[in-house]
Amino acid sequence: MIHMNPTRTRRATVRTGRATVAAAAAVVLSLTSAGFANGAAAVPADHGGDKITVGIKYDQPGIGLKTPDGTYTGFDVDVATYIAKELGHDPSDIVWKEAKSADRETLLQRGDVDFIAASYSINDERAKKVDFAGPYLLAHQDVLIRADDDSIKKPSDLNNKKLCSVTGSTSAQNVKEKIAPDAQLQEYGGYSECLTGLENGVIDALTTDDSILAGYASQDQFKGKFKLGGFKLSNENYGIGVQKGSDLKDKINTALEKMVADGSWDKAVEKNFGPANYQNEPAPKIGVIVK
Ligand code: GLU
Repeated sequence: MIHMNPTRTRRATVRTGRATVAAAAAVVLSLTSAGFANGAAAVPADHGGDKITVGIKYDQPGIGLKTPDGTYTGFDVDVATYIAKELGHDPSDIVWKEAKSADRETLLQRGDVDFIAASYSINDERAKKVDFAGPYLLAHQDVLIRADDDSIKKPSDLNNKKLCSVTGSTSAQNVKEKIAPDAQLQEYGGYSECLTGLENGVIDALTTDDSILAGYASQDQFKGKFKLGGFKLSNENYGIGVQKGSDLKDKINTALEKMVADGSWDKAVEKNFGPANYQNEPAPKIGVIVK
């Protein structure tokens, strides 16, 4: 929902009949995407020269966020900036591009980005199409529910509940297949739609990584409204996506090792997850996937 063309998306959402959700989503949108028109994301990937194009999330506070003044913040942004520096690029050389969950493999395959740092879990299916450096963070799937909802105390309570997740994410599949087969799953294109649906009672729970949910719950506009379930429903090993066969993978792994060794990884964790009170796992070992 929070992306490059709010006008078109808003209209499309109204047409589906979810006018209330669309109107409320527009409020979230205005908080985070006022700077969308600067055109940065439209610049094609430049694989030579000083520029480097990096795919991130634009709608995840604490992880990857495009702020109203057109700057970019979050743990993934700091990790990507560190990597770019190690690859010889100043922060001003970085061209940021939105990498929505469902678009990530295609962006890499088409060469639209040089690498992706976007809460991108390493899994077998994706690894057939792209390569991953890392992992650089271990998160866990969880649910976000209304603060006054006492009906969801354990994962199986999600059966028969209206559950929102985002198209192209690992979370939707995982719930349907393993956690609550009778949950009424609704897949939306972006997280802000799920959040407004949760606020309005259109859905009962939003499921994705705890690292992302903690960021939403701590936002001023949602303070006191939502809580995390505290269920560790999966291991999400965040990797840096690169094109299949790219020599960037080894270089990025070296950069990530250095980022942990010199304390920059800890600093980025504290800066980005501290405000949301997110209790992160220790830095993963490069090449070791926690199943
Ligand atoms: N980490 C999960 C994934 O890569 C969920 C978050 C997201 O969609 O970015 O699918």
